[in-house]
Amino acid sequence: MMASLWRDALRGQHTAVIANADDPMVVWAARAGTDVTWVASGQRWQDDSWVCPECGSRIERGSGDWWCTGCELRRPTPQWSLDGEAVVGPTGVRHALSLQLPGRVNRANAATALAIATRFGADVTDAVRRLGKVTSIAGRYATVERDRRTIRLLLAKNPAGWLEAFDMAEHAPTLLAINARDPDGLDTSWLYDVDFSPLRGRRVLIAGDRAMDLAVRLEVNGVAFEHVTSFDRALAAVPPGRLEVIANYTAFQDIRAELDRVN
Ligand SMILES: [Zn+2]
Repeated sequence: MMASLWRDALRGQHTAVIANADDPMVVWAARAGTDVTWVASGQRWQDDSWVCPECGSRIERGSGDWWCTGCELRRPTPQWSLDGEAVVGPTGVRHALSLQLPGRVNRANAATALAIATRFGADVTDAVRRLGKVTSIAGRYATVERDRRTIRLLLAKNPAGWLEAFDMAEHAPTLLAINARDPDGLDTSWLYDVDFSPLRGRRVLIAGDRAMDLAVRLEVNGVAFEHVTSFDRALAAVPPGRLEVIANYTAFQDIRAELDRVN
């Protein structure tokens, strides 16, 4: 539905669009525009695009490419892509990144940001340097010292975000906090779309309004956990050192408030 709305909004518009070449739904929507810059941002979460939105045929993937088996929809050639720790621009020039934000997803975000900045006439070298100064975004990825614990905050709002968060989190005690208030969506069935097994072998604590829903999911997923009733109790339960916190939207805001609205 979203892809279809975007497609309708972009059809025939002379509007600059920067879009992810690796996501079939995004490509299908964005190619309705007349001025599209493609970025190879990756697509870790593929469960929303197994079939072609144009013709309903199966989408095949391989070697970083994807294509529809029934029509001409396929991955466009990206102008911007990632090569390890570097972003490669439209002229083939490599721009080495030194980001403080963790994970492949943030390197992909950096590639997208550079494509946008360039579109607005910014100097790429200057933009790369300034990207390296970003340490957190409204508290996301922030690291906070409290009671000899180093707490890192990771926000995950959807299954794709949870997979990325597991990648970024260090092998350390991890607090998962889940709410289901209006901004989060009231339905927690999405928990079953996320494979929590990467957390096996880590010490896992759970909290939040809907911790019991998460408890059931982790039980089914074979992930051992402890339930704590507040962020402070989670902090007290782990030894000095690293604590990774992965929370959905309002749970994240609650914890951020307890840490004095860290930015
Ligand atoms: Zn197709």
